Amino acid sequence: MKAQIEAIRRRIEKAAADAGREPTSVRLVAVSKTVPADRVRAAIQNGITLLGENYIQEAREKIEALREFPVAWHFIGHLQSNKAKYAVRLFDLIHSVDSIKLARELDRQACKIGKIQDILIQVNTGKEASKSGVYVEEALTLVREAGQMNNIAIKGLMTLPPYFNAPDRVRPYFQALRELRDRIASGCLPGIAMDELSMGMTGDFEAAIQEGATLVRIGTALFGERA
Ligand SMILES: *Cc1c(COP(=O)(O)O)cnc(C)c1O
Repeated sequence: MKAQIEAIRRRIEKAAADAGREPTSVRLVAVSKTVPADRVRAAIQNGITLLGENYIQEAREKIEALREFPVAWHFIGHLQSNKAKYAVRLFDLIHSVDSIKLARELDRQACKIGKIQDILIQVNTGKEASKSGVYVEEALTLVREAGQMNNIAIKGLMTLPPYFNAPDRVRPYFQALRELRDRIASGCLPGIAMDELSMGMTGDFEAAIQEGATLVRIGTALFGERA
């Protein structure tokens, strides 16, 4: 575990340096879906501070089991509105907000517990039917509407691009997310930060970093193949 984490950290630092970026501008989200709590604990003990989970029920149990550790939990899976009330209690950042309905429900549930919930807007850059996320041309409307809600704070954008076993084929989707981010940021919408770009996974995180990723979501390279 220690060796994998160190190897990934080195690769992140190198990719950042190659792109002329500060290594600290890229944060590693260790994706722990399907990984049991004891292995996640080992990762934390080896320096992981940011965990990404995809399923509410599974995350709830793990977060409870590991609550002694001062780590942050991010939700990166598809979120149904009826699970929003759990999500706002469990997660520091929700990467996958993809509809006004979900944003409204998160806002309502966050208000109930006196929280400002940090979120990212998920963009389906490849327009794949199998994936969640708004299309690039719909993103600004969702950002504007959700940006007016009192109990959610938009921090940036996330994408899960089409799968290619070749980072250079994924790169245009990372570029599309960055360009969209720049376009939205240049609009200077009040109350909206466009600092975070959540993109890049085990197979393509170096290309994502070159294109501006600030959060890379890495599972397999840290924890091994999932069952
Ligand atoms: C599982 C998952 C990851 C991690 O993928 P790996 O290829 O195992 O690194 C990243 N992002 C999302 C949204 C995921 O569901």
